[in-house]
Amino acid sequence: MIYPIVKYGQEVLERPAAPVTHFDGSLEKLVADMIETMYAANGVGLAAPQIGISLKLCVIDVSCGKDPTSKLVLVNPEIIATEGEQVEEEGCLSLPDFRAKTPRPLRATVRAQDVGGREFTLSGEGLLARAFCHEAEHLGGKLFISHLSRLKRDSIKRQVRRMVKAGEW
Ligand SMILES: [Zn+2]
Repeated sequence: MIYPIVKYGQEVLERPAAPVTHFDGSLEKLVADMIETMYAANGVGLAAPQIGISLKLCVIDVSCGKDPTSKLVLVNPEIIATEGEQVEEEGCLSLPDFRAKTPRPLRATVRAQDVGGREFTLSGEGLLARAFCHEAEHLGGKLFISHLSRLKRDSIKRQVRRMVKAGEW
């Protein structure tokens, strides 16, 4: 099932999500739906709050579905180490059509659980490190625009308000 994606301005995107505590069939179904939703939206990552579900859960595929081995499910993820810096264009499915150069660590290590509750750690570099950080922040109620200058952030907020008013958001 493909979920509609919640856009910036909805409260669920800006509050910390609750930890996942039940590793059952309904979690598996939710994960499958999130992967389907991410691919349908051509995203490289999707966090549960972006479909209106306030749980610490995200899916990532930096290959956008091209490489089956790059599909990742992170339950209760936590960034435990970072190194270096990169500044690249970043976007978010909840802020469609807005992209901005965003500073992130060059490498990041995440500790998470899989869909069966087993703990693992994983390190990523470049786009994968960026995705780890972006998605983990979603689960803390933080969006990538919080890393931009106030000027840039206010400009995006203004454009969103305008689109909301025009019924285009
Ligand atoms: Zn996002």
